[in-house]
Amino acid sequence: PETPESAVAPEPRPARRRAKKTVVILSRKRALYSTRRLVEAIKQHGHRPLVLDTLRCSMILAKSQPRMMYRGVEIRGVDVVIPRIGASITAYGLAVVTHFDMMGIPVVNGAQSIARSRDKLRCLQHLTRAGLDMPRTVMAHDRSNVRKLVEEVGGLPLIIKLIRGTQGVGVMIAHTLPEVQTIVDTFWDLGQEIVLQEFVAESKGRDVRALVVGERVVGAMRRQAQKEGEFRSNIHRGGEGQPIRLPPSYVEAAVTAARTIGLGIAGVDMLEGNAGPRLMEINSSPGFEGLEKATGQDIAGFMVEYALAFSEGKQVSTVSG
Ligand code: ADP
Ligand code: GLU
Repeated sequence: PETPESAVAPEPRPARRRAKKTVVILSRKRALYSTRRLVEAIKQHGHRPLVLDTLRCSMILAKSQPRMMYRGVEIRGVDVVIPRIGASITAYGLAVVTHFDMMGIPVVNGAQSIARSRDKLRCLQHLTRAGLDMPRTVMAHDRSNVRKLVEEVGGLPLIIKLIRGTQGVGVMIAHTLPEVQTIVDTFWDLGQEIVLQEFVAESKGRDVRALVVGERVVGAMRRQAQKEGEFRSNIHRGGEGQPIRLPPSYVEAAVTAARTIGLGIAGVDMLEGNAGPRLMEINSSPGFEGLEKATGQDIAGFMVEYALAFSEGKQVSTVSG
């Protein structure tokens, strides 16, 4: 016979104190603003921060017992990992992230998802399948048909991007066909892959950064290019952030984009198109100094709360493949 649940008096929850958790931040430099803020937020929540320099993590493999050493000492008792992997150490960083995963430790952004976000083309390939709008983009390697490729992205001027560029480096605008030809030939000769992209003129040197944590946007700002004639609005190129309330269509696009790539924490960059948000790229280790200063929000706190919940198996939203 069934045991009726109602017959069981609800046990009063024992007032047991939550155990202290060890939250690892993988970061090259503990002095970086975002790393410092995460450390602060972990302490504020009563837990133990542990900043590990990604390049000093040594991975040890043997039959069914992956282990990690840090400066000669074995790492144990980690509850959750927040990876902040800089673009310059992507390959090693992904190996470290995978290793933590193989050790059975929850990692808020998985290696697969970080890899997807790092490659601008690969990222857009996933987003296009999710039905999200983006500037028309072409990747090719065909020197003899550049004119056709230019037509595909809607003509001139157009944007040319290195697929692994970051912080606005490797993003160019070309106004004439010979200019396009010279740029693509140069990069192809250097063995660099690039994409051609429709120039979204109506965005007027602005873009929107939405910080997604779990299923929410916890902060958003608009960045505006500083110099006249500059179309790149990245903070690192001098752009400045203004806090904004995102329209629902932008919130939905950002959350869908992060979920599609499989990132629990993501900086989603969008252009403001005439018909709504146009996805540009997703950062798996979004710096949030500009965003905290612009919005006054405790972004680090949101991230830490998410990581703690994630370590308990809550809000797990990963996509495989
Ligand atoms: P990065 O990954 O190096 O930051 P982005 O792809 O974000 O490069 O581009 C840098 C900036 O250039 C963007 O923030 C935006 O202001 C501008 N930009 C990028 N792509 C386009 C586009 N297709 N149309 C108009 N402006 C663009
Ligand atoms: N910190 C950079 C930013 O948010 C991006 C780092 C990354 O490539 O994920 O703009």
